[in-house]
Amino acid sequence: MPTCQKCQSQFEITDADRQFYDQVSPVFNGQKFSLPEPQDCPECRLIHRLTFRNLRKIYKRKCDATGRNMISMYRLEMPFPVYHLSAWHDDKYYDPKKYSRDFDFSKPFFPQFKELLDQVPHPNASVDGENENSEFCNGYTELRNCYLLFNCQHCEDCMYCFDTYYSRNCLDCYSVRDCEMCYEDIECLNCYRTLFSKQCKNCNDCYFCDNCFGCSNCFGCSELRNQEYFWFDEKLSAAEYNQRLQNFKLTHSHIAEAKKKAYQLYLLKPKKYADILNCENVIGNKLENCKNSFQIFSGKDTENCQYCYMVKYGVKDTQDYTTWGVNVELCYQCVACGNNCYHSLFCNRCYNQSQELIYCEGCITASNCFGCYGLRSHDQYCVLNKKYSKSLFIIS
Ligand SMILES: [Zn+2]
Repeated sequence: MPTCQKCQSQFEITDADRQFYDQVSPVFNGQKFSLPEPQDCPECRLIHRLTFRNLRKIYKRKCDATGRNMISMYRLEMPFPVYHLSAWHDDKYYDPKKYSRDFDFSKPFFPQFKELLDQVPHPNASVDGENENSEFCNGYTELRNCYLLFNCQHCEDCMYCFDTYYSRNCLDCYSVRDCEMCYEDIECLNCYRTLFSKQCKNCNDCYFCDNCFGCSNCFGCSELRNQEYFWFDEKLSAAEYNQRLQNFKLTHSHIAEAKKKAYQLYLLKPKKYADILNCENVIGNKLENCKNSFQIFSGKDTENCQYCYMVKYGVKDTQDYTTWGVNVELCYQCVACGNNCYHSLFCNRCYNQSQELIYCEGCITASNCFGCYGLRSHDQYCVLNKKYSKSLFIIS
């Protein structure tokens, strides 16, 4: 068993892993360049990927192209200029080819790639799709009237949420989906007016509940299925329940007390070993519709995947991949790549039909590129942002 060069723990490289490395190894001019086996354990590889992603620390600064005030996911001290997204997408201000350079075969690749990264303008936030009035967010797509949302998609009128999808009028939520009028919920799905609750599904008007499915008007309960008018596991009439709810004061001390009491009841109930739904041959947690996937955490619709985190809506034959998904195939060691990405290796924030990329960052709709930053116009066959003919790219 190999020993991780970072944390010194032992980890396994299976025959299936080796088959995958062979499957995704790039081929140029008919010659396969075999990927080396990893020297770090899966956890250290995850940490390494996450170091490329700053979601929640945002800074005030001016756009280096237009001077407008904006928030930025980059500190002021970073060497590269930072443009507001609108300027970064505008040909008048930003042309990625202007920063192109020849590859110097007498020098190693990474210092040359860093030189490019240090000079090319970066967008102030990681954003995709059509958004409205949601400037103070990061890592998002399709938001409307949202504030301080991170890693969220398709939300409206939400504030202070993380990893939240398809939700409206939610506040202080973590990893909820299809929710409305919810507050302080964690990992809830399809809930309405559910507050201070965790891992509930299809519930409405519930408070301080944990792992309840299909419940309404329940307070301080856990592990209930299709129930209503329960108060700390006691069945009440609707009138009695409403009376107690009316008497409950929404003060910090009452909330803390209710949380404590609910947790004590929660500890007495047996728990399902993991949150796994409609899955086949999987190891992980928070999984839905996954198949033949191992070490996946927070995954939906994955197949033949391994060592992935926060992946959704179709990810296939992919390993060591973090965020976000949507029809992704044959990717390895990528972070924040998604939306029809195919066969890309060691990439960060490459999305929207980005295909066959190696060591690329911030590239949108690009394909067959190596060591590029910020390409965004269906660019092909580029190295260090310099475009080559297809035949020259393949031979070089
Ligand atoms: Zn390690």
